[in-house]
Amino acid sequence: MFEKIGFEQAWTTMTDRYTTWQIAGPGSLIVHETLYLLICLPGFVFQFIPYMQKYKIQKKPEGFESQWKCFKLLMFNHFVIQMPLIFATHLYTKIFNIGYDYESMPTWYSLLLQLYACLILEDTWHYFLHRALHHKSIYKYVHKVHHNFQAPFGMVAECVHPVETVVLGFGFFIGPLMFCTHLILLWTWVAVRLLETIDVHSGYNFKWNPLHLLPFYGGAEVHDFHHMNFHGNYAPTFTWWDKICGTDVQYKEYKKKLADEKQN
Ligand SMILES: [Zn+2]
Ligand SMILES: [Zn+2]
Repeated sequence: MFEKIGFEQAWTTMTDRYTTWQIAGPGSLIVHETLYLLICLPGFVFQFIPYMQKYKIQKKPEGFESQWKCFKLLMFNHFVIQMPLIFATHLYTKIFNIGYDYESMPTWYSLLLQLYACLILEDTWHYFLHRALHHKSIYKYVHKVHHNFQAPFGMVAECVHPVETVVLGFGFFIGPLMFCTHLILLWTWVAVRLLETIDVHSGYNFKWNPLHLLPFYGGAEVHDFHHMNFHGNYAPTFTWWDKICGTDVQYKEYKKKLADEKQN
């Protein structure tokens, strides 16, 4: 109850104090940047803790140069490519009559359903477009930038060619364009999507990771294999598209080989 009142107070203070433009533009930018850096932080710290290395999937150190290169590209993507799109949020909320006030907020269970639907739609868009970006005729022009990081770490999640930021990034907007009625969905969807994509790029696999409670969630091991192998496991979140389309065959063989080696 206390938390609910605390959240309600915080939200109404924000909507009373700031204009919808300030909330949708600079507010959304702050939400995105803060979440991105905070979610990346544990993985960044783990590289300095020897105990955590047993959870690392590929036993390769991140390397300072690689992390610096990634950080610079990330800042370019965030502040040159994504910032204008984030600032357009206000226009979008006006056109589609998206609510800001606490009273019109969806219930927590309909919000959860909407978030899961957003994940499914984004996963589908991402799977097919990601697979297309791997086609040999275009791979070297766009998607190769993301694959410069063969052993990924959290920040790599959005270290991509600007064209990829826009093309794959469109998947983020499909769910909101279909059923968003309130700003809270946009902000919680940013949080969920960042948690998911930074987790699968983290390079660390924890069995107790709560994201594994999501049915059919692939996780870090699955996407790490994509970076190591360059082929297969194209879906960002769930395992069903790779299973249906047979693009998880190499991953299954690799897992079987590892299991056999462990037994012998
Ligand atoms: Zn790829
Ligand atoms: Zn990746």
